[in-house]
Amino acid sequence: MSNYHIKHLEEYYQVYRKSTRNPEGFWEEIAEEHFVWRKKWDNVLHWDFKKPEVKWFDGAKLNITENCIDRHLPTRGDKTAILFEPNDPTEKPEHITYRQLHKRVSKMAYVLKEKGIQKGDRVCIYLPMIPELAIALLACARIGAIHSVVFAGFSANALSTRINDSDCKMVITSDGSYRGAKTIDLKGIVDKALEDCPSVETVLVVKRIGSEIHMKKNRDYWIQPLLNEAYGDLVAEIMDAEDPLFILYTSGSTGKPKGMVHTCGGYMVYTAYTFKNIFQYKEDDVFWCTADIGWITGHSYILYGPLANGATTVMFEGVPSYPDFGRFWEIVEKHKVNQFYTAPTAIRALAKENLDFVEKYDLSSLKVLGSVGEPINEEAWHWYNNNVGKKHSPIVDTWWQTETGGIMISPIPYVTPTTPTYATLPFIGIQPALMDEEGKEIQGNQVDGRLCIKFPWPSMARTIWGDHDRYRDTYFSAYENKYFTGDGAHRDAVGYYRITGRVDDVIIVSGHNLGTAPIEDSINEHPAVAESAIVGFPHDVKGNALYGYVMLKETGESRDRDNVRKEINQQITEQIGPIAKLDKIQFVSGLPKTRSGKIMRRILRKIASKETSNLGDTSTLLNPEVVDEIMENVL
Ligand code: ATP
Ligand code: MG
Repeated sequence: MSNYHIKHLEEYYQVYRKSTRNPEGFWEEIAEEHFVWRKKWDNVLHWDFKKPEVKWFDGAKLNITENCIDRHLPTRGDKTAILFEPNDPTEKPEHITYRQLHKRVSKMAYVLKEKGIQKGDRVCIYLPMIPELAIALLACARIGAIHSVVFAGFSANALSTRINDSDCKMVITSDGSYRGAKTIDLKGIVDKALEDCPSVETVLVVKRIGSEIHMKKNRDYWIQPLLNEAYGDLVAEIMDAEDPLFILYTSGSTGKPKGMVHTCGGYMVYTAYTFKNIFQYKEDDVFWCTADIGWITGHSYILYGPLANGATTVMFEGVPSYPDFGRFWEIVEKHKVNQFYTAPTAIRALAKENLDFVEKYDLSSLKVLGSVGEPINEEAWHWYNNNVGKKHSPIVDTWWQTETGGIMISPIPYVTPTTPTYATLPFIGIQPALMDEEGKEIQGNQVDGRLCIKFPWPSMARTIWGDHDRYRDTYFSAYENKYFTGDGAHRDAVGYYRITGRVDDVIIVSGHNLGTAPIEDSINEHPAVAESAIVGFPHDVKGNALYGYVMLKETGESRDRDNVRKEINQQITEQIGPIAKLDKIQFVSGLPKTRSGKIMRRILRKIASKETSNLGDTSTLLNPEVVDEIMENVL
């Protein structure tokens, strides 16, 4: 029993050793003691990274919604499962108890069945962050339909590509959505997308903003009247542990998004176990992850991980800047949030604003702060630690990927001593390896290499939907018998890991491999700099030279640009060495980002190298206008 909740460092090392010496035995015990199964597995693990094929808990039968909802009803029926905070701070928050969630998921599942959805069918969900989004995912899981959530900020084109990639039979959407002071015509985007999506038979529409929309006859249905007629206690479909639970597309930072397939059993076990430990969740805590459910972070740590632990999880519909930059902190105070999980891009954006926005609110409920999505630079880390955590809430810098399903490298708060910019230690059961360019594993500490994982973990993706060859080629062909993450990392003297950036973005200057994160980290420490990105461009002598894109803070705008350039390079020379000095520094008003807020360096690289005829897949880009500006002013 004790292995489920790690409370001190010695225990971490002890459980970690157990989990790597005998992974099957370890995960079997966790699965057996903390989840409900309709039938136990025949085999804990079968794996072959050559094919690749991985099966956890094969032969077991379960339904993840019974673990996330039904089993809590006797003890937590009246506890809030989902706490919905609307976009408009004057609109009343909604507390959905486990009992109410059970009824609403059952009804939605019933409607899906009525509309012809069966086990194994794909359902595309294109909804804003409203309760129906969470309920729609769970309703799919309840009947064994495979959900494919597309972030409701994507364009019609990006939406139709994803619908067609997995032949979705149904789309669940809303009339529109609120985003700060704006409304977005979601149904209009869906209508446009569906012009060339032959597989879609039905569209269910949630009413959120009350706008006039077009409803196509015999295809589009308002969901509420159907829910009113639906049955509120639908028995869950019995699933195999290895049946697909969902498809989710990666962010597209490095290329065409990949439809990662996650399965029921292993995903449930690993997301629940990581949630419990990495956020040190206790029974009456209120947990808030600010991600959108359209990303893996939302799937695993707004929905499945928290609900499997019977937690109270906050869903926020709005944006951090509306009605002002204090909104996050207003919500923390209002709901007495205990664990707060966000992304470096949000922290950097808020750190640019006046501190009054943070100081106005009582943040004393906070116990744990989290970060995910990109390396968190040192300056942002300190801002978060000083002003939000008041130096007493540990920051968990969690490294993981859509492909990994759950957090892989992270401190455990109050257990692992933290160091800024370090994701620190592998989580229980995770066996990282750093590889050199010749394909050999690098032993020892104080080393840099390409980050791989040597042994399967329960929540790893099983394939790319419809393209198993791409799955093998992308993740299992670079190094024999290892999962290759695509990221580079440093392992320091005590064995802590620091993610140094994507391997695709590593720049070789005069024969030295330079990761992007440490250099950007140094640039961002300059008092006038808000955010930066570096890339390489061809150079006659050095092979490659460094090109920096730098966005200044509002307070830094008046500074002499050439002085700032000099100071940045001076700082880099002192902190890293003259090899990492930038040859060119372009000041920009923003950086191109994915819709999940990550810097898209591949576009910046093309611009710096003056190869702008084909920028690659830009469908996941948040701010295309900034790309034009950067191209115009390229040095
Ligand atoms: P694509 O795979 O389509 O290029 P993506 O890699 O951005 O897109 P995600 O799965 O959303 O898609 O992101 C995972 C990546 O995000 C990781 O491989 C890593 O590069 C980065 N990342 C996530 N968390 C951290 C972290 N805590 N520190 C450093 N990098 C992180
Ligand atoms: Mg990736």
